[in-house]
Amino acid sequence: MAKVLIIGAGGVGQVVTHKCAQVPEVFSEIVLASRTKSKCDAIAAQLSRPITTAQVDADKVPEMVALIEREKPDLVLNVALPYQDLAIMDACLETGVDYLDTANYEPPDEAKFSYHWQWAYREKFEKAGLMALLGSGFDPGVTNVFTAHALKHHFDTIEELDIIDCNAGDHGQPFATNFNPEINIREVTAKGRYWQEGTWVETEPLSESQTFDFPEGIGAKKIYLMYHEELESLVQNVPGLKRARFWMTFSDNYLKHLEVLQNVGMTRIDPVRFQGVDIVPLQFLKALLPDPGSLGPLTKGRTCIGNVIRGHKDGVEKRYYVYNICDHEAAYREVQSQAISYTTGVPAMIGAMMMLTGAWRGKGVFNMEQFDPDPFMAALNQHGLPWTEMFL
Ligand code: NDP
Repeated sequence: MAKVLIIGAGGVGQVVTHKCAQVPEVFSEIVLASRTKSKCDAIAAQLSRPITTAQVDADKVPEMVALIEREKPDLVLNVALPYQDLAIMDACLETGVDYLDTANYEPPDEAKFSYHWQWAYREKFEKAGLMALLGSGFDPGVTNVFTAHALKHHFDTIEELDIIDCNAGDHGQPFATNFNPEINIREVTAKGRYWQEGTWVETEPLSESQTFDFPEGIGAKKIYLMYHEELESLVQNVPGLKRARFWMTFSDNYLKHLEVLQNVGMTRIDPVRFQGVDIVPLQFLKALLPDPGSLGPLTKGRTCIGNVIRGHKDGVEKRYYVYNICDHEAAYREVQSQAISYTTGVPAMIGAMMMLTGAWRGKGVFNMEQFDPDPFMAALNQHGLPWTEMFL
């Protein structure tokens, strides 16, 4: 029986709140706070049990501290934007509360996400006797746990890891992003990077691609190499990893629009003076694009996210694939959100459940692969993200 304070009433916040509400034996009290309280109230109105809602600007540590002191939660579950991570961690340290998020910190004025800012909090969390769990979404999150599961049950050593993220869904819009457009476009337009023989190799944005044949009727799709944050922790926590890469599918239509937007400067993140005001083109573009939340009822098809792993067991080389398939329409029927938010929100709830039930405990700042994958993998099957594994 615990009280959780969820920060951020966006697409992921909606799913997390629904999923926590479905597990009253763990989440006996739920508080949902965000910059716009009416969004919290709209989510609360969808639920069959009462929750508390509140307004907070999570960039302001004193506002977060006041909210935590008023509500006295056992855990703060941060599904606002990556820009708020450090302020919320500071507020947790000041009030003595555990912390969880789904995306690592990124400074607003530089498209450069990295764990180093949050890993720098390790000693502070250790000294305070608190736990921070980083990246408890799908990727990062489940993909880290998939890797830990493979290492625990199927491999002595993992030499190659390819994380492959496919959204085979269609929302029928000319151009839209499935989660926060600003965060999504910053990620996609950044240089690619992968781990090879102990060093990072950088590639031009979306310059490397190949075709991957997805299971269960999804079929062959082009996948593009990108940098993704779970690679940073996995190369540290999986000894002997020689190569680690992350791939994502994009439709030709998405890439065509993105190229034009980039060419005309609409994806820039530096301020541009326009008619006496500074505007950041990417933030303006976000205001024009469909709200990812509005895509829920329109999106059909499935996502397929998983890990292809090559390594050795008892001296024998093995190739293995573990994945989840999530159906956009089924997710919408359950929690009124499409599968991208669903696949992030469910693992965020499970990560919180691991912490609050004591299945995962520690003092300091942790990534997902540092804990026993078994209870998390079992919970995925129970709470809407069943997985399949096979040897290739
Ligand atoms: P949204 O943009 O839909 O929602 C973000 C929410 O945070 C909004 O409700 C917003 O409020 C609120 N917010 C923003 N700034 C503040 C602030 N200063 N104080 C309080 N609330 C604030 O994003 P998503 O729900 O799609 O994504 C949420 C998080 O999940 C992001 O960090 C994203 O990177 C991460 N993510 C992780 C994935 C994974 O697999 N690990 C996959 C997808 C997303 P308002 O509406 O008022 O602006």
